[in-house]
Amino acid sequence: MTYDVFMPVHCVYGHNAVTEKSALLSALGSKCLIVTGKSGAKKSGALADAIEALNKENIGYAVYDGIGENPLISSCWEAGRKAAETGAEFILGIGGGSAQDASKAIAFYATNPAFAPADIYGKDKGCIPPLPVALIGTTAGTGSEVTAVSVLTNDETGIKKSVKGPDCYARIAYCDPKYTYSLPYKATVSTALDAFAHAYEGFFTQKCEGVVRLFAEKCIPDLYACLKQISKDKSVDPSLRDSLYYGSIYAGLVINTCGTAFPHPLGYVLTENFGIPHGMACAAFAGHFLDRCRIFSPEKFSEFIRMTDDSDMVKEVISDLVNLEGVSISPEDARIYSARWEKAVPKNFISSPGSLTREEAESFLVI
Ligand code: NAP
Ligand code: FE
Repeated sequence: MTYDVFMPVHCVYGHNAVTEKSALLSALGSKCLIVTGKSGAKKSGALADAIEALNKENIGYAVYDGIGENPLISSCWEAGRKAAETGAEFILGIGGGSAQDASKAIAFYATNPAFAPADIYGKDKGCIPPLPVALIGTTAGTGSEVTAVSVLTNDETGIKKSVKGPDCYARIAYCDPKYTYSLPYKATVSTALDAFAHAYEGFFTQKCEGVVRLFAEKCIPDLYACLKQISKDKSVDPSLRDSLYYGSIYAGLVINTCGTAFPHPLGYVLTENFGIPHGMACAAFAGHFLDRCRIFSPEKFSEFIRMTDDSDMVKEVISDLVNLEGVSISPEDARIYSARWEKAVPKNFISSPGSLTREEAESFLVI
């Protein structure tokens, strides 16, 4: 079997990366649109550092701060218009996965004014290349800094769906863990669970070999050790922050080649219908996933256990951190939610050990 590894993002790692390596931004243009959510970019200090870097390089900027969690296509389209009107030559996205994913979509809308918002899913059919994107991450979760993926929410259906492809890569990602220090406890837990899910979901796909397997073998024990300590302390020791952030980037490199497995599309149902944060929503299906890995992928499962704990303990640590308050899904509801997979099951079902069917997914949704 052959597999590709392609990750062209220029990543700058370490504390003060933005201000020390500001010159890289000059290559992207002389004016940009900064894209953020309401608060994270400010609270983390990343916005202030970005403005300092832009001023130092004489790069002009406008700001769009209207990106919410699980970004709506309509906000991205609106910000794309703002980028075009203000003459932005690149997009500077600052935030967690939401602001970063939105930035990738905004870059498309900026150069394609004739696009209807939903046309982004058909971007491969003749769109103009997007504006370049630079990203500054402020959560230790999605790894969007290094993935060719943007997850958007359709305003009309409320359904989350990914836009993918080589033109979704950022040009530059500033990976400075200090911006995650201001992340509150609940968001830290959810994003850490997301990063860990990327690591184990990707690890159990067939594509996880060679160099990508090394990334998985690096971040699985690191992220698990952090989660285990958080579960024990019920707080986040500051010494874990850098490890969580770098772990999330390694895990992003894993899903960038391997993709995610069935917990991700199942998790979308909990986010869309019950507002459960992304990482917690995906981790809710970790038990089902690991049980199937033990049966259908025994060799890798032994290695996973060697890197973590016995499987009951791993499941206990995860379930201790997952809060599904307010979620109740009857078999009838599960049938309605799973109708979205009737025409075609997602690729992540097929790449999961044992290849999940729609019927099996429906049974896992009963909570
Ligand atoms: P997020 O939605 O970006 O942020 C969660 C919350 O944390 C927001 O309320 C945000 O506030 C706040 N926040 C962010 N950084 C902060 C900081 N340093 N200090 C204080 N508050 C901060 O969460 P996320 O888990 O990183 O991203 C989730 C999204 O990414 C989902 O849509 C998911 O589907 C997607 N995703 C993408 C990929 C990919 O490869 N592209 C992979 C997995 C998941 P503000 O909004 O007010 O700033
Ligand atoms: Fe995820």
